Amino acid sequence: MNSFMQLKGQDKKSFLQSKFMYYRKFNTYVVLFASLASITYFISDCQLFGRFAWETLLQRCFILVPLIAFLIVNAKCTNYFIMSIFSQFMGHMMMWCTIGAIYYLPDKTHASEGFIIMHLVFMALTYAAPFWLSTISHCGVLLNIIISHQFNHYANIDIMFSLGLPCLLAIIATNYVMCGVYYDTYTTKHQLEDSLVMDPLTRVYNRHKLPTIVDGRRFTFDHNEHVSILMADIDFFKQVNDTYGHDMGDAVLQSVAKVIKSCTRSNDYIIRWGGEEFVVIMPNCPIEQAVNVAERIRERVADTDNEVCDITVSLGVAKYDGVNYENAIIDADKALYDAKEGGRNRVVCA
Ligand code: GH3
Ligand code: MG
Ligand code: MG
Repeated sequence: MNSFMQLKGQDKKSFLQSKFMYYRKFNTYVVLFASLASITYFISDCQLFGRFAWETLLQRCFILVPLIAFLIVNAKCTNYFIMSIFSQFMGHMMMWCTIGAIYYLPDKTHASEGFIIMHLVFMALTYAAPFWLSTISHCGVLLNIIISHQFNHYANIDIMFSLGLPCLLAIIATNYVMCGVYYDTYTTKHQLEDSLVMDPLTRVYNRHKLPTIVDGRRFTFDHNEHVSILMADIDFFKQVNDTYGHDMGDAVLQSVAKVIKSCTRSNDYIIRWGGEEFVVIMPNCPIEQAVNVAERIRERVADTDNEVCDITVSLGVAKYDGVNYENAIIDADKALYDAKEGGRNRVVCA
């Protein structure tokens, strides 16, 4: 089974929202041009009547009403679910305007061609929509034919189904494959984005992560009132490299990053700030709590057995004022400097 079918909860919503946004423009033009094209079928009505077809003019033009509503909502709303439902609804409106016009036509046999065109419209509408929604909605095309047959009495309804059913199945199969194709693009994009903001050695973020959580000088997440910042620096790290080699230095960096991860929460942002320096941004965390976390990191690093030598870290903790995160970083850096000056292997609160 295609792996997009196994997505659940928030992952599924994110995927569907991303797919919708990717195809949003295309979807808008499909609705717009398909609606306008359905009006031009008034020309074929005139050809069938052999005169100006007054009877079908209103039905053919009626699609403009929902089309205007669609364009207004579409300009403001980017929610995949609402806009997918609205787009599919537009497909059905086009079909029912067509059905309304067919009611007055002297020869209804050409409705089968019209319905094949409807399958094409629904094919184009599948791209932006969730797979299940477009599948159910597209099956509605056949249901519309059955319902309208009650009053339009198509002479060739058997042909409509023998032509339409394979069309429907082929489009569902294609849509399934296309969802899988977009899923590949989606996962690749995420992997690329991750690799841009991840430090490959320690598997924590690098500074490229900052723009995603900062707007101007402010943090973008909620709980801005209690954000703490912690800065950690490995003590005498240069000696580790000089004495035991760069590989051992790398292993120590990985081990310290692991300790920081184990002492922080999943919604904290751990960033490798420089060579052997880490910054932890802690949303929804009062400074007293941040000091406790820093103390725990200090203890655990000191207790960790690094095989060749003892490692310690010094830490500075500071409070974010809700306005300028750079000030908090400077404060944490000053506190860290004081921790170094005070003898290292300690925590200082700004
Ligand atoms: P202090 O206690 O004052 O912090 O002393 P220190 O020796 O830790 O500080 P210093 O800034 O003098 O040394 C940092 C060292 O970190 C120098 C550099 O070689 C090393 N370093 C930076 N990035 C890496 C890395 O990716 N791998 C390894 N192995 N070493 C690194
Ligand atoms: Mg250091
Ligand atoms: Mg340093």
